[in-house]
Amino acid sequence: MDNFKFKKKYGQNFLIDENVLNNIVNNINIKDNDLIIEIGPGSGALTNKLIEKGRVLAYEIDLDTKKYLKDFNVIYDDFLKRDLEKDLKDYQYNNLYIVGNLPYYITTPIIEKIIKSKINVKEMIFMVQKEVGERLSSLPGNKSYGYITCYLNYYYEISKLFNVSRNSFYPVPNVDSTVIKLISHSKYKVSDEKLLNNILKKSFTHKRKTLLNNLKEYDKDVIKNILIKNKYNLSVRAEELPLSIFIEITDAL
Ligand code: SAM
Repeated sequence: MDNFKFKKKYGQNFLIDENVLNNIVNNINIKDNDLIIEIGPGSGALTNKLIEKGRVLAYEIDLDTKKYLKDFNVIYDDFLKRDLEKDLKDYQYNNLYIVGNLPYYITTPIIEKIIKSKINVKEMIFMVQKEVGERLSSLPGNKSYGYITCYLNYYYEISKLFNVSRNSFYPVPNVDSTVIKLISHSKYKVSDEKLLNNILKKSFTHKRKTLLNNLKEYDKDVIKNILIKNKYNLSVRAEELPLSIFIEITDAL
């Protein structure tokens, strides 16, 4: 990577560990007519391996990476600004996979964008900051359980695959990482997904406040009844509640 100017503002820590790259790619099982989206190909370390598996469409914000990515199909733009449905309309595929060693400054916005875009994604494999990996796969009652855990769980089954040392990257970041896998499921069905999102966001706004306090703009009695019915104390906090309770509250409001 001669002369490449690494840009901190784009979260550029490139993977230099062959074993980690192979491990990521080996966790993707795609068939002939499937498509992989890669977010942030950088110098193409992962892309080179992904194209051995199937078709890849990549999104990269930094034009300076162009020299490494000549052989690939890349949209040079901010992933967060794209209309994914539009970008994909010329592609015929059975299943869609999204993969990326994500730029950590926008992990949550990227995930939210994918969910909101309404494209059907079968599986996602992401390298994320270790703490984020813990948060996304944590259970109620755990310190790191929060809004994004619940929101993501509604759509995806989340599992941690393996941890990655900071020394597997160049430049070496000041955090360790985890590779997570998200498999889409349709376990839950809520009447209004937007409302569920709002309820979840508000429920976790002030971590120390009770659920009832965080949701005081909504009908208190409805929420109270659901808590009582499910044998929760009325002073319960959002972090102690499973997703199913938030769904029940959303459906009742
Ligand atoms: N995939 C490469 C690897 O594993 O070595 C690079 C990963 S690096 C952690 C994140 C990459 O995402 C960088 O190449 C960065 O330029 C790109 N990136 C940052 N923000 C982006 C955005 N908003 N849209 C698209 N790509 C972005």
